[in-house]
Amino acid sequence: MIFIENIKGPYSVTDKCIGCDLCVAIAPTNFAANADETVEYGYCYVIKQPDNAQEHALCMEAVNICPADAITTDSHNRFTGGEK
Ligand code: SF4
Repeated sequence: MIFIENIKGPYSVTDKCIGCDLCVAIAPTNFAANADETVEYGYCYVIKQPDNAQEHALCMEAVNICPADAITTDSHNRFTGGEK
């Protein structure tokens, strides 16, 4: 299941997330931690889908480093353009 906070697009964080914040450290433009203190545990979600090659590369780095394998990608919709 993906978190409803994810901005719709090719990258999404699922409920496998353990809230380690690595994705935020790697790609702070695209990921953020849930700051809602009423939730039982912290988790991250996509705040902006990548729209240039640099952001795409950082998102892919987050996908690959995520220790919970919690970031899904839709390979058909990934950014494929050049530098902006
Ligand atoms: S790197 Fe993975 S487990 Fe860690 S906060 Fe991001 S999505 Fe969650």
